[in-house]
Amino acid sequence: MLTMGLDIGSTACKSIILRDGEQILARSVVPLGTGTVGPRKAFGEALDLAGVARSEIDRILLTGYGRFSFDDADGQMSEVSCHARGIYFLLPSVRTVVDIGGQDVKALRLSEKGALENFVMNDKCAAGTGRFLGVMAGVMNVKTEDLGALSEGATEEVSISNTCTVFAESEVISRLSAGVRLADLTAGIHASVAKRVASLVFRGGVVRDVALSGGVALNRGVVRALARELKIDVLVHPDCQMAGAIGAALFARQQL
Ligand code: ADP
Repeated sequence: MLTMGLDIGSTACKSIILRDGEQILARSVVPLGTGTVGPRKAFGEALDLAGVARSEIDRILLTGYGRFSFDDADGQMSEVSCHARGIYFLLPSVRTVVDIGGQDVKALRLSEKGALENFVMNDKCAAGTGRFLGVMAGVMNVKTEDLGALSEGATEEVSISNTCTVFAESEVISRLSAGVRLADLTAGIHASVAKRVASLVFRGGVVRDVALSGGVALNRGVVRALARELKIDVLVHPDCQMAGAIGAALFARQQL
């Protein structure tokens, strides 16, 4: 049995094809959010990589912010449920999942059997999200994907006092014109994100093991800064950005 999960996020579309709810046959990440191009591309790329036709997929479920914006599927499932399911598949020891996506942050609590027990979410604000990091990377003229490696060269942390993205952007510009090192500034930006995210995680409670997921989990600097704020090790799976899509493909398998 082949199932597909397509996670249509605000910033990126992720698709996964699973065989029998166990084996990942193909994965695709397209750095375009909800709309027509991103979902269609992620959908097509996964089919191409798996070498199968749409008609060979037994069930397709959509999840994510844009899950009602795509027609060629069999149903939709909430992103929180899919995320919980996907993380349990990837890292079964995890009880607290922190998902940092393009525009939101969620902290999920799972039971030992992977059931979703509760979750907390940020308010409608870009602070502490991928959007915040993207804006700061833009001002520093570096790629978002390079922030993690850049921060590894930091010798001190230049703290950013404003949490609001707009004010923090001005602060970063003035720090740059004062001649601070990019690496030190980046470390400060990661610390600012980690503080913001940690306050949300503490609201939901921290139970071991803790994992970071979503695209921002690929930034090692954020992972380190968050582990420091939470005073706990933070696990990251290489498929951390795929958790929602994996969960959707698993629910699709269950529905057959
Ligand atoms: P959403 O589902 O909300 O669209 P994702 O969980 O897919 O979001 O994460 C998208 C975010 O992850 C974007 O802000 C993007 O900049 C960030 N991101 C993606 N890949 C990387 C990477 N390699 N390093 C750092 N950040 C990344």
